[in-house]
Amino acid sequence: MKPLNSLNFSGGPGALPESVLRQAQQAILEVPEVGLSVLGISHRSDWFAAVLAETEANIRTLLGLTPDFHVLLLQGGATQQFSMVPMTLLRGKSQPAQYLHTGYWSGKALPEARLQGPIEVIWSGQPSGFTKLPTDAELTFSAEAPYLHYVSNETVEGLQFNRVLGRDDVPRICDMSSDFLSKPCEAQRFALIYAHAQKNIGPAGVTVVVVQDALLQHSPRDLPAFLDYRQQIQAHSNLNTPPVFAIYVTLLVTRWLLQDIGGLGAMHDINQQKAAQLYQALDHSDGFYQGRAAAPDRSLMNVAFTLKTPELERAFLAQSQQRGFSGLGGHRAIGGIRASIYNALSLEAVESLVAFMQEFQLQPRSA
Ligand SMILES: *Cc1c(COP(=O)(O)O)cnc(C)c1O
Repeated sequence: MKPLNSLNFSGGPGALPESVLRQAQQAILEVPEVGLSVLGISHRSDWFAAVLAETEANIRTLLGLTPDFHVLLLQGGATQQFSMVPMTLLRGKSQPAQYLHTGYWSGKALPEARLQGPIEVIWSGQPSGFTKLPTDAELTFSAEAPYLHYVSNETVEGLQFNRVLGRDDVPRICDMSSDFLSKPCEAQRFALIYAHAQKNIGPAGVTVVVVQDALLQHSPRDLPAFLDYRQQIQAHSNLNTPPVFAIYVTLLVTRWLLQDIGGLGAMHDINQQKAAQLYQALDHSDGFYQGRAAAPDRSLMNVAFTLKTPELERAFLAQSQQRGFSGLGGHRAIGGIRASIYNALSLEAVESLVAFMQEFQLQPRSA
């Protein structure tokens, strides 16, 4: 039997491992050790306390976190973090926080931050059409900034940093929504990392925040409880009713990463192989397929490319859909084609896509 969902190249919500989906299916009917559906288990139950504890422990293990880091499971998506971060760290500041504008999602963070305090955009990819990322020589990091904010992987444009940016004496804050737990990420070097689950590690509804305790020492005392990291920490991510199901599925994905895959190093190896196959297909197509991202900045998670004309792109998408591939249309902001190859997307699925791309290119068509 063909594996279910195996050709889901969606940019998000993304593909999840079949073994995880089967366990989630079972849990919707009944969690065996509880005798209830996961959709009807109290968030104050011992079972859910254990789910929260194991999810946090697994993320700690995967990232190698020391005890001075907190792991939170919040709601509101990455978008809520665009404002929760500056609300906590920028209000009343005179020095600007430094932001990079490297694509669609880092751009969305800017107006939210400006509502809370001063920011300085230290680099923008706008003049180059968001097709490349800056080199270190193009960036000047201030020692006075309250923090530095950037997006590790621009999901829409398919641009990914393969290094950690910034100074060690200024808090680094990173939106890792679309490459969290896809490779080792030197988490200890960040003051705060956030990543919603629905690209790479679970369903929509839960957002992981990894935050260093020291960052929150001077945070404002007048924040709504829900938006106050310290109160969320005190409540062990159970301040109000959390998304029990989304957190449970995220737990299953962390178990899959640890037990089936063998950790983030092993996951990275697989993700590199997948991306290499696709980029090689682009590079060996005599320009029939054109990658959007400059070669050094190519994402291992989102491979964005174009064909020569909109008509060809439409034909490509229509035929790919007929062949069972799903989610290959580029983000509505930029169009084109995007193959999102998150953790759960298999090497075999990538090989099928490469074969289809080669076949599509060779089809006779009138000029
Ligand atoms: C999808 C995405 C977002 C938006 O996340 P929501 O959970 O929908 O708020 C933010 N940042 C990045 C990098 C993304 O890929």
